[in-house]
Amino acid sequence: MEMPLPDQTVLARKAEIVALLRRVLPAGSVIDAPEETYAYECDALTAYRCPPLAVVLPETTEQVAAALKICHEQNVPVVPRGAGTSLAGGAMPTSDAVIIGIAKMNEVLETDYDNRIIRVQTGRTNLSVTGAVEENGFFYAPDPSSQLACAIAGNIAMNSGGAHCLKYGVTTNNLLGARLVTIEGDIIDVGGPYMDAGGLDLLALICGSEGQLGIVTEATLRILPKPEGARPILIGFDDNEVAGACVSDVIKAGILPVAIEFMDRICIRATEDFAGAGYPDCEALLIVEVEGSDAEIDAQLERISEIAQKHNPVELRQSQSAEESAKIWLGRKSAFGAMGQINDYMCLDGTIPVSQLPLVLRRISELSEEFGLKVGNVFHAGDGNMHPLILFDANKPGDLEKCEDLGAEILKLCVSVGGCLTGEHGVGVEKRELMTHQFSADDLDIQMAVKDVFDEKWLLNPAKVFPLSVSASRRGPQEVNR
Ligand SMILES: Cc1cc2nc3c(=O)[nH]c(=O)nc-3n(C[C@H](O)[C@H](O)[C@H](O)COP(=O)(O)OP(=O)(O)OC[C@H]3O[C@@H](n4cnc5c(N)ncnc54)[C@H](O)[C@@H]3O)c2cc1C
Repeated sequence: MEMPLPDQTVLARKAEIVALLRRVLPAGSVIDAPEETYAYECDALTAYRCPPLAVVLPETTEQVAAALKICHEQNVPVVPRGAGTSLAGGAMPTSDAVIIGIAKMNEVLETDYDNRIIRVQTGRTNLSVTGAVEENGFFYAPDPSSQLACAIAGNIAMNSGGAHCLKYGVTTNNLLGARLVTIEGDIIDVGGPYMDAGGLDLLALICGSEGQLGIVTEATLRILPKPEGARPILIGFDDNEVAGACVSDVIKAGILPVAIEFMDRICIRATEDFAGAGYPDCEALLIVEVEGSDAEIDAQLERISEIAQKHNPVELRQSQSAEESAKIWLGRKSAFGAMGQINDYMCLDGTIPVSQLPLVLRRISELSEEFGLKVGNVFHAGDGNMHPLILFDANKPGDLEKCEDLGAEILKLCVSVGGCLTGEHGVGVEKRELMTHQFSADDLDIQMAVKDVFDEKWLLNPAKVFPLSVSASRRGPQEVNR
């Protein structure tokens, strides 16, 4: 993976820049010792690493603004960071960059049950947003599998999704307002505690902008009353493609389960060994969950079972208790971790029209054979958001490169069937060079012109999202490190 060479003038001024930052931040909030900055050298895409120049951990929006103002004046690149769980290398630093991490900013600022909103500092973890309101019967819907660790900041930047987003939408559908600090250090509020703000929909622009436009320090989020009940059903098949066809038929029938998750044999076995979720022994497994009253749940599950029966399932089992349901979901949410225990892997994130699932699953298995690397699949099937996990050996020379090439082919496949390069993990450094397969030169130019408006010097989150050759003229004449 190529990265621009660091700006030597910034590296040479490290002591001066750190001193300026220390002047505006509380003691202990600026980290520059190499043994400590190593902790920030990567995110969850651990294949690529680079320690930053320094790390800043502010406690208030005003401190974020003061740090950004200094970086802007000193021409220092800035990498915004939440919890560092990005799977796309979105929070990976460059050696001339200051990381601004908002992990210390994790307070609930306001809960308003009458208007069903919560306002939080964006360092708060996803799961603890629900934690703050569940006693009163509410929850925050977007539920990335990393929700115990990932921060609302990263969720907004990546427009994150999760298993239950089929019914409730992803982050952008549940975000009502954001406080954004610009690279110049200005603090602006976008949106607010209501459904639709006047004027241009700048909130939608910020959501999913991968730290390219500013640093989000506060968010107003929609909270929902907990459903009366929920029940998953496990549907096992002896063939991946058939499971894919079943998903397509459920969606076509107009039923809206809250989640339809898919796992293939490799992932079922790894998860079962790790979490003992009680999954059946089969080639492909669907976890379909519906919500409502008991009568509504029974009616929906009956229709889903009828559709599944047409595809000759080898197992069709409804959860019998809240404990069993919790175990089923614990398994699904631990699937990535379970796979990590058996192999190095790279997790992809393409989205496709649901009707293309059988074709794409078949092609992935053919590509896996061609490249000689195993691929496991565990993903949000209901909204066509695929997560092929390519298994490779990080210690075997050439394996990572082979894995990257296979990953590129799979993502191009997603684009070729009418889908796109990312569903929820973002572009980061991982899919940066593939953007030309999805967007024309003019498309990319318009997207970069938006960044020009927010970040004229192109200091925010360098070398992410836009292919290096395409963004070269805007980033300045930097050499590329191969
Ligand atoms: C085991 C595992 C499972 C996962 N499952 C899912 C899943 O189901 N769904 C899903 O969507 N993702 C998933 N992810 C990916 C990841 O958790 C999400 O992308 C998450 O939203 C990242 O949040 P974070 O706080 O860790 O952000 P980081 O990794 O710190 O940063 C992510 C991006 O956000 C930017 N950013 C961070 N803070 C700010 C800020 N304050 N202002 C502006 N930009 C900012 C960063 O620059 C970077 O580009 C998973 C990851 C792991 C490791």
